[in-house]
Amino acid sequence: MRYEDIYRRSIEQPEEFWAEAAQAIHWHKPPQKILEYDKPPFRRWFVGGETNLCYNAVDRHLAERADQLALVALSSETGVTRELTYAELHREVNAFAAVLKSLDVGRGDRVVIYMPNMAEAVFAMLACARIGAIHSVVFGGFAAHNLALRIDDARPKLLIAADAGSRGGKIIPYKPMVDAACAEATHAPPKVLLVSRGLDAAQPRIEGRDVDYAQLRAQVGDAEVPVEWLESNEPSYLLYTSGTTGKPKGVQRDVGGYAVAMAQSMRTVFDCAPDQVMFSTSDVGWAVGHSYNVYGPLIGGCTSLLYEGLPTNPDPGIWWALCEQYGVRTMFSSPTAIRVLKKHDVDFIRRHDVAQLKYLFLAGEPLDEPTATWINGALGKPVIDNYWQTETGWPALTLLPGVEMKPVKFGSPGFPNLGYRMKVIDEQSGAEVAPGQKGVLVIQPPLPPGCMSTVWNDDARFLQSYFSHFKELLYSSLDWAIRDEEGYTFILGRTDDVINVAGHRLGTREIEEVISGHPGVAEAAVIGMHDELKGQVPVVFATMKVAPQDPAGTALALQKCVADQLGAVARPAHVYIVNALPKTRSGKLLRRSLQALAERRDPGDLSTLDDPGALEEIRRVLGR
Ligand code: ATP
Ligand code: MG
Repeated sequence: MRYEDIYRRSIEQPEEFWAEAAQAIHWHKPPQKILEYDKPPFRRWFVGGETNLCYNAVDRHLAERADQLALVALSSETGVTRELTYAELHREVNAFAAVLKSLDVGRGDRVVIYMPNMAEAVFAMLACARIGAIHSVVFGGFAAHNLALRIDDARPKLLIAADAGSRGGKIIPYKPMVDAACAEATHAPPKVLLVSRGLDAAQPRIEGRDVDYAQLRAQVGDAEVPVEWLESNEPSYLLYTSGTTGKPKGVQRDVGGYAVAMAQSMRTVFDCAPDQVMFSTSDVGWAVGHSYNVYGPLIGGCTSLLYEGLPTNPDPGIWWALCEQYGVRTMFSSPTAIRVLKKHDVDFIRRHDVAQLKYLFLAGEPLDEPTATWINGALGKPVIDNYWQTETGWPALTLLPGVEMKPVKFGSPGFPNLGYRMKVIDEQSGAEVAPGQKGVLVIQPPLPPGCMSTVWNDDARFLQSYFSHFKELLYSSLDWAIRDEEGYTFILGRTDDVINVAGHRLGTREIEEVISGHPGVAEAAVIGMHDELKGQVPVVFATMKVAPQDPAGTALALQKCVADQLGAVARPAHVYIVNALPKTRSGKLLRRSLQALAERRDPGDLSTLDDPGALEEIRRVLGR
């Protein structure tokens, strides 16, 4: 099969293409119409079709693979491993659904899930899907204020929370944060369902509001709860974006289009067949966790590995030990995580037999070439960069080894995924730019199945955030890109990350690549700082693998590296060597805050900031 042929068909005959793809899932009632596009850019896929995500992820497999492992949830924090077959997963999801029903949760009700990577988080999501409730998973590492904001936006009927999370052996009780969030929120849920792992026993209960999962689970026994058949375009779940550029947006996903996208991508993108094992290292609270820890692998009849813990605990080989133990075929992680491993001896990876591993996919932020080359060398397997967003729900740019394995080009996430009509256009004129020229990456609507339907409760924000940037109606989250002669797309960063030095436009990523190429550097963030003379100048913040003996000398060496490789115009005005860089909880660099501090402005919305200490250090070195 040639990628070009299939891709062209997906673009030129989308209705035929997606009608065929839709056969990969179970429909209670087949769709009447494949695509409805009478109110652009809003579109509806598989109109009139009735299906259910939980049915497709669980029940559907019982006939053929009841005894196959569906979910392996391992925690290096608690030392607990849970292995569930499809039959066992079916039982637990039904029980969870029965508990939800007993709490009067039903179709269309929102349920906020505030849990770490544990089996019950998956049961809770699938149980919601089963009864038509709309889940909104909030990353367990978020504090009370973030939780309160999401509660007020989603207005849930129920909040499901774990007793505690654990990070590097440190127990983080959730209950105090739940209580604080409910106190802060205007639309606090009437009921809170607590799932205890025995990590934090001393949790005072609030009479009339708090209920205990173990107790209710015992009451419902092995109850079976019928599947609620939903129209393809009803909401399945809400998920908030990472908040790298500002206030997070509540992405709303549908049912049928998402199920089809998941089934299709497991084959075409991830090349993972039923029976095979997929290991995604994401947290269930992120888009990758939703799509490739839960819905994708389960809809695909695969075994999904869910891991709670640091990638370095008990040692930096843990992920590869798991690959060996479970015979993982497809692995999915992020560049940030690989950069953590890169600080350690490559032998931690090499000592494991990962013969069954076929691919490592990485997504979420630019994959710098030194990191890609390092992990590729350590594993001896293809490392596939893929580009997507919470909004798209599945890869937009990627290689598709399940269709045709094209050569990897480091620095590029490859080609448009099937159904994605992507272009690189000139910011001003809106015309497509020539190969090799920089421009803004856009998707021509209608967005393919799987992508967001709208912003929850806010169609106006959907239009304004994504479709209002150009004269033509085009979707864009304002990433800056280049497409080469062979059609490979390179992401240069966000358009607001572009630095304009005396009329020369430089992507922050280009400079970061050079800095990270220096053997002593662990990670780098580059920003453009206002300059009277040149408009803007590049400023570098870098962390080193080991603290340098001579920081001033190192800074000079880094400035020279950039000038040598990219020209004098790109030479950083300042290089700051720091211990940590400010990141969002999902591991993305908060360049906008660095830039604001450098320019003596307010650092903006910091609700998704991971480690406040990192920003404090930046303030110190900048003297702010
Ligand atoms: P917000 O939209 O709230 O500001 P965010 O854009 O970081 O936050 P996500 O949906 O988690 O939220 O991230 C999507 C963005 O991450 C993309 O728009 C892009 O900027 C970046 N990204 C994702 N994958 C890649 C990749 N493979 N290469 C380069 N950049 C990537
Ligand atoms: Mg975004």
